[in-house]
Amino acid sequence: MSEEARDPEAHRAAMKKLKAEQDAKARSKQHKRGVLIVNTGNGKGKSTAAFGMAIRAAGHGQKVGLVQFIKGKWKTGEQEAIKRFPEIEHIVSGEGFTWNSQDHEKDIAAARRGWDEAVRIIAASRGDTPAYNVLILDELNIALRYGHLPVAEVVGVLADLPTELSVVVTGRDAPAELIEVAHTVTEMVPVKHAFKAGIKARKGVDF
Ligand code: ATP
Ligand code: MG
Repeated sequence: MSEEARDPEAHRAAMKKLKAEQDAKARSKQHKRGVLIVNTGNGKGKSTAAFGMAIRAAGHGQKVGLVQFIKGKWKTGEQEAIKRFPEIEHIVSGEGFTWNSQDHEKDIAAARRGWDEAVRIIAASRGDTPAYNVLILDELNIALRYGHLPVAEVVGVLADLPTELSVVVTGRDAPAELIEVAHTVTEMVPVKHAFKAGIKARKGVDF
């Protein structure tokens, strides 16, 4: 046991010092603006973390746009659950997992529809009375990876976000150009995944 853990007085002093340091750190952060967040990597949790943020924002009464670029072949739980939140506007533009689709032109058209919605939401969030506070672009990285949308066009828009809007982009293989302009980037690392052990994707867990 450390000296601090044994002595309540030493513990109190250490905590007081830590709090003063944390307060000073918080005071030094002066910028007030929305952020561009990227959830990427091969581990599980990229989309569910983004949906969690949508619910967090809705809980504050904020307006959320959620555009899903690649829809799974299953009826997803999030689609039904999100209907219960009047603050979240849900747009599904994908035609199914990209490896289920044989029609590249159809995929490109679907991605374009989703991106047009994203651009509309971003434009509506400029100025003193932003229409949205949070925009989730679920699996946009996949649409970029398969060439359904030009990376330069998308990154050009996301690099110039309205100050009151935060945007979350999810999906494996985030392009380097997007990572470069983002404020927060998290890479999910697959330490283990049940699928590898032969366990089937599960309702409520995986979709
Ligand atoms: P989730 O939607 O669970 O947050 P995700 O968005 O991180 O997952 P995607 O690449 O979008 O992951 O894949 C979606 C589906 O694939 C989900 O059913 C998820 O459980 C599953 N999945 C995610 N990572 C892996 C992996 N490393 N191996 C196998 N299946 C995975
Ligand atoms: Mg996902």
